[in-house]
Amino acid sequence: MRIGIIGGTGVCDAVSLTDARDVTVKTPYGDALMKQGKIAGVEVLLVPRHGEGHTIPPHRVNYRANIWALWWMGAERVMGTAASGSLNSAMLPGDLVAVDQFIDFTKCRPATFFEGSKAGVVHTDMTDPYCAEVRKALIDSSESLGLRVHRSGCYVCTDGPRFETRAEIRAFSVLGGDLVGMTNVPEVVLAREAGMCYGLLGIVTNFAAGIARRELSHEEVVQVMAETSGRVAEVLCRAAGRLVAAAGCGCRRNWSRLAELRGVGAGK
Ligand SMILES: [Zn+2]
Repeated sequence: MRIGIIGGTGVCDAVSLTDARDVTVKTPYGDALMKQGKIAGVEVLLVPRHGEGHTIPPHRVNYRANIWALWWMGAERVMGTAASGSLNSAMLPGDLVAVDQFIDFTKCRPATFFEGSKAGVVHTDMTDPYCAEVRKALIDSSESLGLRVHRSGCYVCTDGPRFETRAEIRAFSVLGGDLVGMTNVPEVVLAREAGMCYGLLGIVTNFAAGIARRELSHEEVVQVMAETSGRVAEVLCRAAGRLVAAAGCGCRRNWSRLAELRGVGAGK
């Protein structure tokens, strides 16, 4: 069992792997970089979502290459982290959220592995997009460390890289959003298409536009992440240990679809 971690802003550097080595995986969508190593004996693949040195903005992240690479390398269960703005007055900067739903407001991202032709037309169920077992591992691990974690939350995804307008945040709030961010879609969608368990730990870095009393800045996000990244890394390490047990969820039923699509055997 290999566990994938897709680290958002500020998290990858805080996760320390033993026996770590850099791996470049060639995918049909381009190369994906990751570190392969171990956490307390558990095999882990760590993908820096924004590239080495945080140089790739959210709308340019190669989501398909990242997820394909994790699938190819045999990551059956994946945890992502996402620095997020809060629309919910109960979700405070520094809080963690085990996200259970999303609303997609992205407009310009390739969002599927299934582009028709030989692969046929595939419509993937997305009623509950996040794996219940990965979410439970994230919640239990956060609580065991005494951290404030919300057991559910709806993540609204925008393209960015700009922040949202006051009216957009008001609209997202009416629609039931709790968090807003720029990276979780299509990442979670592609993981489900590939038959991998996927859970997201939202990290509240600020209140969103119009809820915050001052202008938003990326520096504010970076500062909160600097304060919380060590704790988040500890949550991920503990959760990885909880996830090596056999899965009892149904996420894996799509696992072989990518192999059929590309006429290849599933990874190592
Ligand atoms: Zn699952």
